[in-house]
Amino acid sequence: MRPISYSRAIAVADAVATVASDPTSDFLAGGTTEVDLLRQNVFLPRRVVDINDLPLTQIEERPDGGLYIGALARMSDVAEASAVRERFPLVAEALLLGASAQLRNMASMGGNMMQRTRCSYFRDGASPCNKREPHRGCSALDGFNRGHAVLGVSDHCIATHPSDVAVPLMALDARIHTEGPQGRRVYAIDDFFLLPGDTPHLEHPIAHGELVVGIEVPGAPVARTSTYLKVRDRESYEFALASVAAAVTVTDGVIEDVRLALGGVATKPWRARRAEEVLRGAPANRETFARAAREELASAHTRPLNAFKAELAERALIRVLGTLTGTESTS
Ligand code: SF4
Repeated sequence: MRPISYSRAIAVADAVATVASDPTSDFLAGGTTEVDLLRQNVFLPRRVVDINDLPLTQIEERPDGGLYIGALARMSDVAEASAVRERFPLVAEALLLGASAQLRNMASMGGNMMQRTRCSYFRDGASPCNKREPHRGCSALDGFNRGHAVLGVSDHCIATHPSDVAVPLMALDARIHTEGPQGRRVYAIDDFFLLPGDTPHLEHPIAHGELVVGIEVPGAPVARTSTYLKVRDRESYEFALASVAAAVTVTDGVIEDVRLALGGVATKPWRARRAEEVLRGAPANRETFARAAREELASAHTRPLNAFKAELAERALIRVLGTLTGTESTS
């Protein structure tokens, strides 16, 4: 039994100051990941600062047609917000597919950005794992890695990023707002999630005591024609084997604008920039979609157990693009 002290903060500055001053402390929001990790002795703080009373639950309109979502807005509130459903359906769908109703009612948007991998070797607290204990080795490289990543991997870690909603947020160029010992910072979402490289224990560029306070989603007319497809082993309460967040506009049969990101196959929410380049200005047909998907997955680094993921992601991409453009409904 490890004693853990607990306190509740009512102001962002107090929460930041308390955690920043104590390297053994951390924030506690919805707790839907963190409490599991506490119980599994993977997350080992001596002190937690409960931030659920902080005034960070807003969903605000931005002048550019975008939204600012407070870090403590619950997944369920964001999924049900009419502005999200109408202008950013890919975000609403990812939230609804991302967790059970009970979890959505507890889990916060900021916590979702900070959630840890589901790699079982990381979570068992005993197997060698570079993410949990730097330089211990990676048990997944030659272990059971069917669910592990094929994009953005390194020789030190192949853990899949687990978030659903971070995938459409990546496609939409969201920005992550933080408050920390150095004041307010804003990160492009692609910079907020780090590739494992040779430091898989570092997942974000933020300092100890730096708190995610909000997520800015820029206005994007293309997002009105968007969706999120999640492919998984069973229909509920399961993480993605591959997922696609996509938004597309087509004029006279030509793809005018497109945003694409992949989940379930990469070590971070994966912006599919190669595919976007192929698609932009090209005819909206299956041939184009297949070429885009192939080029995006060309850099996949697979292992025997997870090799199927590259083809699964390609097929998911082709299917989503066909559905959104009305050119076909299945791949
Ligand atoms: Fe740890 Fe990453 Fe290897 Fe999983 S894949 S055991 S998280 S180093």
